[in-house]
Amino acid sequence: MDQLACIELLESALQADAKRRKPHVRLAEKGCWEWIAARTPLGYGQVRFRGTRELAHRVSWILLKGEIPPDQSTRYGTACVLHRCDNPSCVNPEHLFLGNQADNANDAVGKGRWGKRGCKGEKHGRAMLTESDVIAIRKSGKPTRALAAEYAVSQSAIAHILKGRTWGHVKESI
Ligand SMILES: [Zn+2]
Repeated sequence: MDQLACIELLESALQADAKRRKPHVRLAEKGCWEWIAARTPLGYGQVRFRGTRELAHRVSWILLKGEIPPDQSTRYGTACVLHRCDNPSCVNPEHLFLGNQADNANDAVGKGRWGKRGCKGEKHGRAMLTESDVIAIRKSGKPTRALAAEYAVSQSAIAHILKGRTWGHVKESI
């Protein structure tokens, strides 16, 4: 099957789940399937899937390759879905691979990003936030729940940031 047919397959599976009629994906340079719907602040695609918010590259893997296997080396109990192509918005399953926590630390997309625990680009928070996100969160004055939704992290992750229990090393510089 060619790329466009595969994308169409993915779109129809996504639309069946999410009832969105607009496209989610476009074929981009180097064969990347660029996610053009909602994204996280770090550029990962995001979509409602099975009643929860999920990262688009993980959903693409599940829909086109199958379930993500359990992996107890990660904090959340399933394997990390990593990018070969250094493009966080890409959901082409041929550009993705499954890895464990150690692979995740070496992932090209994750290089230079904060976070030693959890899968970078996973739905759990700390790993997905940048220092500038943390500064913005602390300055925002918005409710925890709103910030959690905006940054696609848990409310407890936001609460920890606000109280300085995590990211204590990030000092706002004006
Ligand atoms: Zn790609």
